[in-house]
Amino acid sequence: MKSHPSKERTLVILKPDAIQRALMGEIVARYERLGLKLVGLKMVVPTAEQIEGHYTLDPNWRRVTGEKTIKSYKDRNLAPPSEDPLEITAKILKNLKKYMTAGPVITMVWEGAHAVELVRKITGGTEPRSSPVGTIRGDFVVDSYTMSDADDRAVRNLIHASGSVGEADMEIPYWFKQDELVDYKVSREDILYEKELRGILP
Ligand code: ADP
Ligand code: MG
Repeated sequence: MKSHPSKERTLVILKPDAIQRALMGEIVARYERLGLKLVGLKMVVPTAEQIEGHYTLDPNWRRVTGEKTIKSYKDRNLAPPSEDPLEITAKILKNLKKYMTAGPVITMVWEGAHAVELVRKITGGTEPRSSPVGTIRGDFVVDSYTMSDADDRAVRNLIHASGSVGEADMEIPYWFKQDELVDYKVSREDILYEKELRGILP
């Protein structure tokens, strides 16, 4: 049976910079405030193998990320370091492994209507500099591709969030065993989802 759309789940990872900058409470508060429910949480110090495995779960990620990066150079009227998306992604992946294994991260699973899409919306775009005001990356980070290119490193943007429902379906079981995810109810779900709005008046 297909589950109700309010049960959509997405994976979020608070990257090492989020922990170091003491922003975990702030970030969790934003997803809670939206109306999502936390159904899994743990702290891990990832290995480089774990990070490579995570980013290559989607066989298209290398190509898509390379193409997105080439476009970001062209949008800035700059020549990309290579026209080959896979070559560009190989460098990004090498830098990502260094970034993501620099310290503990917190992996989380959030549940609610349109969880994947809405977490991406309030998290902002990959590059903090061009992320809109009001998004987490736009509000809390000064980093940019200009900065990360100058120092040949990954752009530091606090958060990983699944990019699609398909990505979430691969990423959640990659980081969480079935029994580490909790099925439970919070009372605010009544006002968010209860069809008949029962239980408010006596
Ligand atoms: P997102 O995290 O927004 O889904 P991607 O999946 O494309 O972005 O890339 C994964 C991570 O790799 C980004 O969050 C960022 O830390 C890093 N990254 C991606 N593209 C670049 C780039 N062109 N330069 C530096 N770092 C990058
Ligand atoms: Mg991504």
